[in-house]
Amino acid sequence: MEEITIHEFEFALINEFFTELERQGPGSPEETIRALGFIGNLSNKTKIADLGCGTGAQTMVLAQNTEATITALDLYAGSIAKLNVTAGKLGLQNRVKGIVGSMDNLPFQNEEFELIWSEGAIANIGFEKGLNHWKGFLKKDGYIAVTYESWFTDERPAEIEKWWVDAVPEIGTIGHNISIMQKTGYIPVAAFTLPENCWIDNYFIPQKARQEEFLKKHTGNKTAEDMIAFMRREADLYSKYKQYYGYVFYIGKKM
Ligand code: SAM
Repeated sequence: MEEITIHEFEFALINEFFTELERQGPGSPEETIRALGFIGNLSNKTKIADLGCGTGAQTMVLAQNTEATITALDLYAGSIAKLNVTAGKLGLQNRVKGIVGSMDNLPFQNEEFELIWSEGAIANIGFEKGLNHWKGFLKKDGYIAVTYESWFTDERPAEIEKWWVDAVPEIGTIGHNISIMQKTGYIPVAAFTLPENCWIDNYFIPQKARQEEFLKKHTGNKTAEDMIAFMRREADLYSKYKQYYGYVFYIGKKM
């Protein structure tokens, strides 16, 4: 039987599942703050774009740890609605605005931002394509900070190689990705791996209860059942092969 890939699931179903969770990808406030520590010259004049923001877990961390104005963009309207409600509850509505849009066709001005942020989302358009396209919206000397799936080793078992090449065809090693960052016009500033708690405590464990309720709600829906089976496999593969891959934060400065 052909293995199912995430691309075959309905976008709306995936988002229905994930918008009820705090995060839609691996990460943590501590690692967002750590990445922020590499960015210079932030002030109350700074404009940040957070692309593929989901419901905004990292957007709120950015807002609470800077004085910047943040435009958070995601393709899924349900996530943006939730993000704007959260910003209001936290009293951040004057500095945080969620908008619906696609990261491969950004509705921004050239050189509008001092900082472009994106956690767990650039693979949707491709690492190189994203870095290239987004650079036009950054001011000179502006920064980019993205997390991206990366190989930790030059070789790995065939089972995990196939899984990730199906999901993210251009997945590469950390060294390869840094060279792409340089090739696309950024000075690499830092790269660090996300620790395991970002995957296990903040991504896989919160999914468990949600998977049960989701299966109940969608009983008999083959797409929903396949989607949950895919997520469970993703978690099993992570515990089996986590020494070979993970998310890496890449931080660069536009040349
Ligand atoms: N940054 C959030 C986090 O870490 O919790 C969400 C990460 S989630 C793995 C990826 C996000 O990218 C989803 O919210 C999805 O809707 C969004 N996305 C996928 N394709 C997109 C596109 N073309 N433009 C904008 N957002 C997109």
